[in-house]
Amino acid sequence: MSDYRDLWQSLNMDLERHDLLCAALPSLYEEVYLNQPGRPQGMNYFNAVIAEIHGMRVAELAEHRKQGGKVFGTFCVFVPTEIIRAAGGVAIGLCGGSQFWVPDGEKVLPRTVCPLIKASVGAKISRTCPYFESSDMLVGETTCDDKKKAWEILNEYIPTYVMELPQMKREKDRQAWIEEVGIFKGTVEKITGKKIEREHLREAIRVENAKRKALKRLYSFRKNDPVPISGKDALLVTQIAFYDDPQRFVERTEELCSELEERVTSGYGVFKNGAPRIVIAGSPQAIPNWKLHHLIETSGAVVVCEETCTGTRYFEHLVQEEGETLEELLVNLANRYFQINCACFTPNHERVEDILRLVHEYRADGVIHYNLSFCQPYSIEAARVEKALKAKGIPCLRIETDYSEEDIEQIRTRIEAFLEVVR
Ligand code: SF4
Ligand code: SF4
Repeated sequence: MSDYRDLWQSLNMDLERHDLLCAALPSLYEEVYLNQPGRPQGMNYFNAVIAEIHGMRVAELAEHRKQGGKVFGTFCVFVPTEIIRAAGGVAIGLCGGSQFWVPDGEKVLPRTVCPLIKASVGAKISRTCPYFESSDMLVGETTCDDKKKAWEILNEYIPTYVMELPQMKREKDRQAWIEEVGIFKGTVEKITGKKIEREHLREAIRVENAKRKALKRLYSFRKNDPVPISGKDALLVTQIAFYDDPQRFVERTEELCSELEERVTSGYGVFKNGAPRIVIAGSPQAIPNWKLHHLIETSGAVVVCEETCTGTRYFEHLVQEEGETLEELLVNLANRYFQINCACFTPNHERVEDILRLVHEYRADGVIHYNLSFCQPYSIEAARVEKALKAKGIPCLRIETDYSEEDIEQIRTRIEAFLEVVR
């Protein structure tokens, strides 16, 4: 990686601790990613993004800010990034996927909070994540209770704006969400100093839709047997989508897809024909949380789809691009996001239907319901998901874990036993 120390210094990062964080990633990446056989050439771009994870993109953000642009750090797939883009801002999905940050998070949060939240807060207070340090504002939402309280703590360190997301999906909730999206637009205009016109929003919708379409195309190849790309690689591409430049990301993902298309035509796969096919459903898996995928794919099965926020919940449903007025486009935008089936909603039957549909579409043999420790919404909903799957004769395994490595062998044993049932 080039030398970015001056840049990190200018962001007021804790360089000594940041060195410790950076030291761990290359060996983990090599073990989990680079050792996979038969990887597509198109993954080289994504390898380079990871090799430069705290460099190239951070330098681009610094340049953007030097030109007077703003950066917004987001945590949830409900934040309408089109609005940020339409106002000339950049939206960065903040990952919080590393165990490195958890102890710092536990300094200000109870231990009994999900690792995603603890790591996100820890990343900020330890000043070791350049994306947090490059953000002018964080955007939170009222999804799960723990997040709601975490925003109050983060707001002590950096301005943290909170969008109110309804918890039900009645018509009055949809109307409230449309209003909330409008309020968010006003806030973003204030921070960026730029008024959003219809054409700006239309272009931003087009760009974000292109990203969704590229991801949909990528996922479509995973429906084949043999699969032309591993679940780990597909997960990585989705994780990178949250913070890469969208136009560049689309180009590179489309190139990867063209290669996968050729692989499918010639019958080339990265797992043998008939390898057990698994859908992961549940909590998000932020970079560098590759634990579950790695365990599954080193046990002889392949992950063919993720019903998670780092999977289909992120890119399913496009925003309707046609609209005569700015207001119409804002309604289109709100409607698209309102279709996401997060476990924070009640009731939430649609999520169970989504999982059944994905099992069918991706010709999966079983589902692993993945739960980050202390994530109440997904943990409670897991029982209903399991019941619905079992009623259809689809095997389901429930795994609850955090970012630590302590339970790896125990989880591996459970996955191997599950794969015996699935085979
Ligand atoms: S699980 Fe729900 S709250 Fe968490 S990122 Fe996804 S949509 Fe947002
Ligand atoms: S993983 Fe669960 S507990 Fe953690 S932020 Fe998402 S919904 Fe909340």
